[in-house]
Amino acid sequence: MVENVYDLVIVGGGAAGLMAAAWITEHYKNIPEKPSVLLLEKMYRPGRKLNITGKGRCNITNTRMWDEFSVHIHPNKQFFKNAFYGFSSHDTMDFFTGLGLALSVERGQRVFPKSMRAMDVTDALVDTIRSGRIVEMKTDSTVETIAKEENFIVKYGGGHTVLSKRLLIATGGLSYPSTGSSGDGYAMAISVGHSIVSCRPSLTALIPSGYTEADGSLSSLAKSLSGLQLKNVSVSLMVNGNIVQEEFGDLDFTTSGLEGSLGFRISRKAVEALDFGQKVAVVIDLKPALSVQQIQQRIKREAAIGNNTVKYLVSRLLPAKLVNPFLLLNKQLVRVSSAEAAEQLPQLLKNFRFNILSYVGFERCVVTNGGVSLKEISQKTMESKIVEGLYFAGEVLDLDGDTGGYNLQIAFSTAVLAVQSALQQTL
Ligand SMILES: Cc1cc2nc3c(=O)[nH]c(=O)nc-3n(C[C@H](O)[C@H](O)[C@H](O)COP(=O)(O)OP(=O)(O)OC[C@H]3O[C@@H](n4cnc5c(N)ncnc54)[C@H](O)[C@@H]3O)c2cc1C
Repeated sequence: MVENVYDLVIVGGGAAGLMAAAWITEHYKNIPEKPSVLLLEKMYRPGRKLNITGKGRCNITNTRMWDEFSVHIHPNKQFFKNAFYGFSSHDTMDFFTGLGLALSVERGQRVFPKSMRAMDVTDALVDTIRSGRIVEMKTDSTVETIAKEENFIVKYGGGHTVLSKRLLIATGGLSYPSTGSSGDGYAMAISVGHSIVSCRPSLTALIPSGYTEADGSLSSLAKSLSGLQLKNVSVSLMVNGNIVQEEFGDLDFTTSGLEGSLGFRISRKAVEALDFGQKVAVVIDLKPALSVQQIQQRIKREAAIGNNTVKYLVSRLLPAKLVNPFLLLNKQLVRVSSAEAAEQLPQLLKNFRFNILSYVGFERCVVTNGGVSLKEISQKTMESKIVEGLYFAGEVLDLDGDTGGYNLQIAFSTAVLAVQSALQQTL
């Protein structure tokens, strides 16, 4: 039995769905004629993923202007341009400060709530929606199927049915399924004729060979490396022996593998290559500011004043935690004379190599690469080109960004554009 007819149903109460609902609430609060809107969220509480973003601090957005911002958008930055200009990172900041959330801009132009609590971001959106009473929000309400006749028929929560003139799918991707984002939106999109660009984990840890033992436990190499944070290093991603990406920044070794901003940045191409069965390696220049000659001179100076064992020289050039793993991975150094080792060291420091065996999957990656094909969506409105009145926003789309606040801005900009377009047509 149909329980109600709405102007718009929003499926998913994550970053995109909550922004869509909060924007509607704010926009229509002083307009007499209000739309009827229902938000359906699968989990008991909305915004579960939002609460764990930015290591619990939530990197809301990034203040870079389009030319610099767009470099971080994949696979089609042009598709995102219209949505970004309609609701930019500065609009995001104005929106949240308007809701009473103080923000601060940090290194790399990343924006965080001043409180450094991701939950404050979720609360700002949820409180706005609940107190505004324009959008009805139902949690613990999984949407099971959608269909289109004259209106959309939305079945949810094991036996409920509502109709809606417009429908927004904001169900997220496949990453961190424990937060509720388990790819349901793809099945909904397919059921009404859309195609999905195959999905892969992105912004995920790369697992070097030798990192785990045959029984799956961490190897002694992994144990000695994990916790190491390399600052200001250069990294080359090699695929089948060719450099395909070069980056500079900070690289972290964790119990999962190579992470940190550099590890994440190269993970997109690395995962794709591994999936295609290609050979992947990461080569780290541990001394990018020094030439081989400069390192050689430094080694000579060190050898002249201290003892000239290889271990001593390496310890003068690398962080303490890296000395043993570096020697373990460059066993040839202990077989040659100290003078020969000193000769070889500069090249080895500039070419510290890890062959990559695999990567951490959807269960713990930050974002999904792939999703609803952008070819089937209007970039001017976020409306489906296949089903009139159907809109998409956020990670469910084949659109993702690097770390730095780009993914949440994708969710916010596409959500606002989608509801602006959807409600323009109904009211
Ligand atoms: C650990 C981690 C840290 C991150 N940190 C940052 C960061 O600091 N900055 C940044 O920009 N990005 C960050 N991201 C990425 C960012 O969180 C996502 O890209 C963003 O949340 C996507 O928003 P979304 O609304 O599309 O999807 P989600 O936020 O995943 O929301 C989708 C919602 O839909 C609901 N849902 C799914 N299926 C159904 C259904 N059938 N019926 C009803 N509801 C359904 C889900 O329960 C979920 O609440 C991080 C991601 C992770 C995993």
